[in-house]
Amino acid sequence: MPKPGAAAGVPDLADRFARRTDGMTASEIRALFAVASRPEVVSLAGGMPNLAALPLDDLAAEVAKLIAQDGQVALQYGSAQGVPLLREQITEVMAAEGIRAHAEDVVVTVGSQMALDLVTRIFCDPGDIVLAEGPSYVGALGSFAAYQAQVLHVAMDDDGIVPAALAEALNRLAEAGRRAKFLYTVPNFHNPAGVTLAVARRAEVLELCRRHDVLVVEDNPYGLLGFDGQTYPALRSTDPDNVIYLGSFSKTFASGLRVGWALAPPSVRDKLVLAAESATLCPPTFNQMMVSRYLAGHDWRGQVKSFREVYRERRDAMLSALGTYLPAGCRWTHPDGGFYVWLTVPEGVDTKAMLPRAVRARVAYASGTGFYADGLGSRQLRLSYCYPTPERITEGVRRLADVLNAELDVLHTFGTPDRAAARLAAGGARRGPQSPSPDTT
Ligand code: PMP
Repeated sequence: MPKPGAAAGVPDLADRFARRTDGMTASEIRALFAVASRPEVVSLAGGMPNLAALPLDDLAAEVAKLIAQDGQVALQYGSAQGVPLLREQITEVMAAEGIRAHAEDVVVTVGSQMALDLVTRIFCDPGDIVLAEGPSYVGALGSFAAYQAQVLHVAMDDDGIVPAALAEALNRLAEAGRRAKFLYTVPNFHNPAGVTLAVARRAEVLELCRRHDVLVVEDNPYGLLGFDGQTYPALRSTDPDNVIYLGSFSKTFASGLRVGWALAPPSVRDKLVLAAESATLCPPTFNQMMVSRYLAGHDWRGQVKSFREVYRERRDAMLSALGTYLPAGCRWTHPDGGFYVWLTVPEGVDTKAMLPRAVRARVAYASGTGFYADGLGSRQLRLSYCYPTPERITEGVRRLADVLNAELDVLHTFGTPDRAAARLAAGGARRGPQSPSPDTT
């Protein structure tokens, strides 16, 4: 008997999916992508790097040379662990954050997203616990869900993960006779929170994890994007035996090449290579050789500097617009690197429920609940400043402020959030943007 909605005669194969697919649902960001990418909508939702500053002509010449000079190798299968020269170069990139590593401990992956998947795959059985900042990177939460790991969030403040909250979580688990498989953390220019783990806290976080025999997975795609050129000592640099480090060329070079990596202690590295082999046989040789040539023959540090300048200008535009337009009662973080601002709106406003109204007003953001595994985040949202121009950012924040003011108006008029929500859902915002719906233009 076909389920309602299934086309007649076409079997509904969903009933055959493995149980682990239950946790695989489209992120809100993805669901929004089609609408938010329409030109009339200012999207502050996605985290797409800005590639306008890349020297495309030089890169085109490099691709041509790669094919002409090394085509037989570049177009062939390669090592499951990654191209040796690139792994060597990756150790030089990591040296900027104090990491001393051997190329044989580096595993190249298809973006650091694949590294996240592999790490979860080799460590997590269904029901295993992963500690992660609250909020956390949505793609990491997706990997944890795909392997049916249970996420326990640890509170953050403006200085990153709060050591006392981490200690409490670790103690609580120990008392229950359980132990987390690892702590997943983005110490620098956090996605989505926009904050950085204070240097003074780093040793404490590492010490707590060591004491409780919990591994640390340090995810650091934004570390070189500090707006003053500042870098922070990687967790891996002080505790090489207990930290798995993930890096990426997505934010410092080109996300479309999908080249990232994991640096892991030897026993973990060996398992990662086996897991990677079963997933992809080997990472794309062509893309790795392209990255390798770029690092060897171009001023990649100068390029990172120009990325930083672009993003700093956009961060400034966003912070200034937030200060100018947002209503009282909003709070937001002040990133000194990376792509994101984390905004807390006044009590009673539900950012997920507000999103369709914001999109109608031609501004998109990522609502906070997507960054928690446990339903928190309804008063938060993430704003990305990486992609739109400063003028569009300012306009987007202005539109967002209009939407927020309209929500607050209804809240004040109707008293309780529930009654206000019903009114808003029925189209009750009296004031605010009268823009055409993106669905009709
Ligand atoms: N980790 C974090 C914190 C990220 O923000 C991202 C991309 N948005 C990734 C990992 C994945 O990056 P990639 O796969 O492109 O290397």
